[in-house]
Amino acid sequence: MSKLVVLTMFLFSIELIPEKKCYDPGEVFILRAKDKNVILKDRAIGPIKSEGDFNLFLVAGDLFEKKTSIYLPETRKTLILNICKKEFPVRKYYFPKELVDLSPEDLKRANEEKERFDRIWETINEKSYLEGSFLLPVTGIIKFNFGERRFMNDEERSPHTGIDIHTDEGTPVMASERGIVVFAGNTFFGGNSIVIDHGMGIYTMYFHLKEMFVKEGEVVERGKIIGSVGKTGRATGPHLHWGLRVAGARADPISLLEVFKKLEKKR
Ligand SMILES: [Zn+2]
Repeated sequence: MSKLVVLTMFLFSIELIPEKKCYDPGEVFILRAKDKNVILKDRAIGPIKSEGDFNLFLVAGDLFEKKTSIYLPETRKTLILNICKKEFPVRKYYFPKELVDLSPEDLKRANEEKERFDRIWETINEKSYLEGSFLLPVTGIIKFNFGERRFMNDEERSPHTGIDIHTDEGTPVMASERGIVVFAGNTFFGGNSIVIDHGMGIYTMYFHLKEMFVKEGEVVERGKIIGSVGKTGRATGPHLHWGLRVAGARADPISLLEVFKKLEKKR
């Protein structure tokens, strides 16, 4: 962290949890300040909770970002946080060509679904549904991590923007935190997919489900069984793809679990 950032934080009592020289791509962190909101990419984000005169904001840089800049309107300061350089592992898959090349209809469908999801990530719900911390939606073996690069038949595809938790088909999947279901339906890549809006720009997603037990518009409590592990959509075996967006940024869900542990330790 630069001397200027440290000095600014000292003068204006801004705290970052965890405090680091640089953050991993997509790493989630908490900013503690007196401001009522923070500005991230021209959008105002409200606090996830208050502690006396201070507010706590959940922020993350995007997977591909080199720096994250956060403006504090009342403190009138811009914090510029460095993102560390990280080499992600490469995964190579080989499939018959007809399974990789999408038909015009499938491509149209996949693009429409991507647009619908993008509209969801762009929406920042001012209402916070958060109660405490997030939980791992299902236990299993994490075989494919956030940010890993994918090659299909030697052609680079989009990186992995969630984690894959492998376990038996039919294993119950829980809501990671309290929130409102903003998507529950079938998509080309994700199969049976659920997206939960936790408020303040925080969304978790649950893909490849076998069954879905919730509907759009339903408020779900932390730990509620929302579906079961499956292999619907483009999945080679039963697993849960668990993803996270924070104010539009593709963020690492594991760091979301860790940041709340660090916060609890500090209190
Ligand atoms: Zn995945």
